Order: sequence, then C-alpha cells, then structure tokens
Amino acid sequence: MIKRVGMAGDGLTNDAKKFLYQGKPYYLNELIETTPLNEDELKKILKKFYFSSCKKIVAERITGYQTQLRVKPKAIEVIESRTKWGSCSSSKKLAFNYRLAMAPVEVIDYVIVHELCHLLHMNHDRSFWRRVGSLMPDYKMKQEYLETYGHLIMSIPLD
Ligand SMILES: [Zn+2]
Repeated sequence: MIKRVGMAGDGLTNDAKKFLYQGKPYYLNELIETTPLNEDELKKILKKFYFSSCKKIVAERITGYQTQLRVKPKAIEVIESRTKWGSCSSSKKLAFNYRLAMAPVEVIDYVIVHELCHLLHMNHDRSFWRRVGSLMPDYKMKQEYLETYGHLIMSIPLD
C-alpha cells in the first residue's frame, strides 16, 4: 500500500490521498497517469516520476552554483537511499536521492550546494560550512526542513 505523505503545518496536508512534489501536496493523478493501474504499478510509476524529476531539477539548478564555485563534478547521478540525501565521492562524482523531488526546490538547492562544496572541502570542517554559507546564507533553514520532514519523506514506501 502507498502510504500518505501529508502532514500538518507548512502548507502541507493530512489528506491521505495527497503526495508531495517540490514541497507541496498533490493528488496522485496530478502527478502521474493513474488509471487503470493497480497499486504496485502506481508505485513504480510514481517512483520513476520522482527519479526523472529529481534528475531534471538537479541538472537545472546545479549549473549556476557550479559557476559560482568554479567546480565541475565528474558525474551526477540520482540514487535510491534511505539514509543519504546526497553524496560526493573522492572521484568527484555527486549523487542525489530521488526522494529530494518531494522536497521544496530551495531544499534541493541546499543539498546541491552542500555536495558541490565537498568538491572543495571533503570534510564538514569550518571552512566547508563557511563556503556553504557564502553561497546560501540561510542554509540552516533548509537543514531544519530536512530535520523536520526528512524522516517522513524517507519513510514513504516506494522501494
Ligand atoms: Zn556533507
């Protein structure tokens, strides 16, 4: 069964039939073609939708930050993970969790900036956070969103 995504507060909803996309609730048929599919098929299509949306959003948003930071990742991929929003490998490959498509685009921007900054600072040291803050002074608000709603987004049973 696909569980509801709704939640109280922040303009979100408790409506059991709504799903998150870019931080806002939608009925399933506003996001994907829903008829005449069964639940397993719906799950598969919804997951595919989030995957391709995440890929598209990241590709669109990352270029400006790359220019600002003067970095270029070797590759960018969209992954499935229940623990990580993004990652940066020592070979300069960035990965982003497809579930980010459920979060507001500003939160995706934060994860993009965070991972891009790892191309310059591999650790979470002071200079790393200074760099993140120089591109995104309000990054703590985005971290708070992930702290508050992240577990919910991660727990939607699509895998
Ligand atoms: Zn990090």
